[in-house]
Amino acid sequence: MDGKKLEYKGEEALKEIERLTAKAGRVQLDILKEILTRNSKTEYLSKYMKGSKDVSDFKQRVPVITYKAIQPYIKRITNGEDSSLITGHPITEILCSSGTSGREPKMMPSIAEDLDRRTFLYNLIMPIMNQYVPGLDEGKAMLLYFVKAETSTPCGLPARTVLTSYYKSRHFKCRSPDPFNNCTSPDQTILCNDSNQSMYCQLLSGIVHRHQVLRLGAVFASAFLRALSFLERNWINFCNDIRSGQLDPLITDPECRSSMAPLISVPNPSLADEINEICSLPSWKGILCQLWPKAKYIEAVVTGSMAQYIPALEYYSDGKLPLVCTMYASSECYFGVNLKPLSDPADVSFTLLPNMGYFEFIPLGENGTRLMNIDDDEEVRNDKLVDLVQLSLGCYYELVVTTFAGLYRHRVGDVLQVTGFHNKAPQFRFICRRNVVLSIDTDKTNEEDLHKSVSVAKKLLEPFDALLVEYTSHADTSRLPGHYVMYWEIIYRGSMVDSTAPLDDKVMQECCIAVEEELDYIYRRCRAYDKSVGPLEIRVVEPGSFDALMDYFISQGGSINQYKTPRCIKSNKALKLLDSNVKACFFSPRDPKWIP
Ligand code: AMP
Repeated sequence: MDGKKLEYKGEEALKEIERLTAKAGRVQLDILKEILTRNSKTEYLSKYMKGSKDVSDFKQRVPVITYKAIQPYIKRITNGEDSSLITGHPITEILCSSGTSGREPKMMPSIAEDLDRRTFLYNLIMPIMNQYVPGLDEGKAMLLYFVKAETSTPCGLPARTVLTSYYKSRHFKCRSPDPFNNCTSPDQTILCNDSNQSMYCQLLSGIVHRHQVLRLGAVFASAFLRALSFLERNWINFCNDIRSGQLDPLITDPECRSSMAPLISVPNPSLADEINEICSLPSWKGILCQLWPKAKYIEAVVTGSMAQYIPALEYYSDGKLPLVCTMYASSECYFGVNLKPLSDPADVSFTLLPNMGYFEFIPLGENGTRLMNIDDDEEVRNDKLVDLVQLSLGCYYELVVTTFAGLYRHRVGDVLQVTGFHNKAPQFRFICRRNVVLSIDTDKTNEEDLHKSVSVAKKLLEPFDALLVEYTSHADTSRLPGHYVMYWEIIYRGSMVDSTAPLDDKVMQECCIAVEEELDYIYRRCRAYDKSVGPLEIRVVEPGSFDALMDYFISQGGSINQYKTPRCIKSNKALKLLDSNVKACFFSPRDPKWIP
């Protein structure tokens, strides 16, 4: 990679950001040339480039693709064929992303040096923060990180999430001590596969160190809030452990037990009393500042679909702790960092780091009107793409990435808006992930998957002569964990009027679970394993509710000719309208099946 050094720290890291962004165009071109040179003999590139390593040939001949086009190659590699199908380097692991293709999780190739690239980006975060918040090296960070279950491919490659890969790597486990990253969680508690035990120990450790903690966080806002809800349920046990100097026997993981032993082996009744007093307060508004009085900010992704959690974070911090969103990354590539970390979540921009991969952009116009209409499978002509140095301020783009690990002109699926430039490197606001309608945690459900699930579930109504005529959905995060709500309008065949007879509760519950069983792997993992998503709910609405919904949207300026029932609703007024027509609510009676 450009600048082989991983460990840029302090001033050096900031200088490296300046150096890279000052010659962003040059760095990009060099990256592309290097990818084309290193990977020229791969089956994939040879097919289009016919041996050429020329940048202009690349731009003319290599197609812009979605995951579907590369999936067969990745499948062949996971079944044991050589990495040289797509990359000049051995693929060392497969990273499972939160997207799906044909109901399977997307699998991104990864090579050994990708871990260096990710580490490089992680190492920039604290030098950036240090410019705005002094003294972060004088205490600890309570950052709650979790590993997810991993599998292996038929040929034996590990298949796991990008974060799990990082926490299990020596880049993380053997990192050198850094006063800016002195974390409360012992590594063993992060690496524990049992998410409850991991959460228990990490929170307990954060509480034990409460007077030293300077920053709080998790990767995603949803995970941090899940931790707070865990704390609400478990603080009495924490008090007991601290008072007695003994870890709850329910923590059985030997590594967790041994790593926690030094932290709580001496009974500390006064700390237990402090926690007891704070957690017994009638309201938990501002609880974070009480429990961690020296905390200066909360660190978590609060952009994109995570923005829905900002009000809850502000409640628990009483608006006193800035919400800091440090970076923008994905399984296929890490993209950039937030150079103004204290900016309001609504104004967060990420500066693209030009040495992470080769980036191109599909222009979507100035006002984003095309955003709603772009389709996953819509073919994008090669000559439509623009380079990083050709971007215009205020315009919207879809990100396309080419990596050393074997993705070529791969559409990431994210829509970004250019908000400025740092030197020559563009800065972006994250607008949305294309096609995602519902998201609570790391799940990202698109309209197609939602529709397929509903299509399967609604068949359960047929034996009762009932018919699903319309549906929509909403991600309800008013309580934790959040859950998917579906609004269903059901009629009895042939009789719209006589549809008051309620369906048997059991049938509707079966519909709930049928939808969930059909949703993708990540959704089912969030439900069954992470418990970060609650049981799906179906709210049956009165006949005519969806006509009223249409009338509402048209009254708001929608076109009657082009009206399509939105498959997901965010507008509070529209939700209120539907909720006022609800006849009955049903929840999934059990967790959907999920096998790692
Ligand atoms: P995955 O494919 O599961 O690795 O998830 C990567 C996706 O998460 C990205 O393509 C974005 O859609 C989303 N994402 C990552 N970082 C951020 C961020 N800081 N703000 C908003 N969305 C993000």
